[in-house]
Amino acid sequence: SSRVLKRQCFQRPATRVRGALLYPDTIPFSLIPLAVLAESAELNGDEGRAVAFRRSEALLRSLDRRVQGVAELRGLPCLGEHSRRVIQDVLDNGESSEVEETKSSSRYKAMKVLTGIFGVGVKTAKRWFTEGICSLAQLETSGHTLNPAQQAGLKYYADLNQPVTRDEADAISVTVEEAVCSVLPGAQVTLAGGFRRGKTSGHDVDFLITHPDEGKEEGLVHKVTACLESRGVLLYHQTTRNTYQESPEGAGRSRSNMDRFERCFSILKLVQEQAKDQDPVQVEADQTDSGCRPWRAVRVDLVVSPISQFAFALLGWTGSKLFEREMRRWAVHEKSMSLSSHALYDNNQKRYLTASSEEEIFAHLGLEYVSPSGRNA
Ligand code: ATP
Ligand code: MN
Ligand code: MN
Repeated sequence: SSRVLKRQCFQRPATRVRGALLYPDTIPFSLIPLAVLAESAELNGDEGRAVAFRRSEALLRSLDRRVQGVAELRGLPCLGEHSRRVIQDVLDNGESSEVEETKSSSRYKAMKVLTGIFGVGVKTAKRWFTEGICSLAQLETSGHTLNPAQQAGLKYYADLNQPVTRDEADAISVTVEEAVCSVLPGAQVTLAGGFRRGKTSGHDVDFLITHPDEGKEEGLVHKVTACLESRGVLLYHQTTRNTYQESPEGAGRSRSNMDRFERCFSILKLVQEQAKDQDPVQVEADQTDSGCRPWRAVRVDLVVSPISQFAFALLGWTGSKLFEREMRRWAVHEKSMSLSSHALYDNNQKRYLTASSEEEIFAHLGLEYVSPSGRNA
């Protein structure tokens, strides 16, 4: 199965037709049946099930032909019995009853609204839902004390649930680059996340920051946020310092996907030139101040990496999440190595393998290089 995994995940088919199987490109991602089930499992906190559906869904997207019947799926990996049943249903009836039921369930709808608030995770949303909270209005009148992240999430709910466009990401890049270079000349800012993979929209904008002289990057996040604040564009931020030096992962025992870089989860104010011709989003939030002002709120992640870990950080922060997961799995199962956003540890040689580019990391892992746009699994 490992060879199959490698073939499926790391070798792109010659032609890659997005959504070729059951759904044309014009259908939004949220309507893709297996993605709905994956999302629903995530909202239930069922990680294993969620990953299984994500993998089936990614496999279908990677096929270069439109599938007419389940028989054609014979022999393909990543497709469990459940996923096959859903596909069969869609092929036979045009839709899957399970998917339709999921989408219309009050639980799914409420969990989507509540986890759509920045700062609210599945656990919190679940607790609120069991208390009968299904909407933002109900949350606001519930008397719950919200933490600063959640307060910002609620305040900018409409903006943060409107996808960030590529143009907006570019405009944010200019702001971030200016701030970074004014506080540390010579620092390098790299766009990571979905936009680096060529996506045309995203839920946030991710930046990786480094400096060619190791050590110069230390404490940079604070200087950058102070600069952004002085320019009046910092609406919210939560900064975490670097904790990697205190307890590096050792032989990669860290099971968590969270890395230990100095970073900042923020909300920035993006001043829009062409704000007038934009559709206000139809969401449940308070629209009074989001509809007519000449700026919008955008979620921005800033991550600071020492130059010696930069290639690993870039690989880790480029995603997609599923791609990272599969790559780390490959490292463990096929190479007995542990890959993180900080380092690659070889458990056989009992040493770290260095890399100054993503290409070198793929090579260490015995994998063909996959460019960022091929990592949209
Ligand atoms: P989107 O358009 O939804 O933003 P994305 O692929 O950019 O899509 P992000 O959630 O921004 O998704 O994550 C980008 C990458 O950064 C992912 O590959 C993820 O693994 C990594 N990442 C995100 N959050 C963390 C974290 N707390 N610790 C470590 N890595 C993270
Ligand atoms: Mn992102
Ligand atoms: Mn992000």
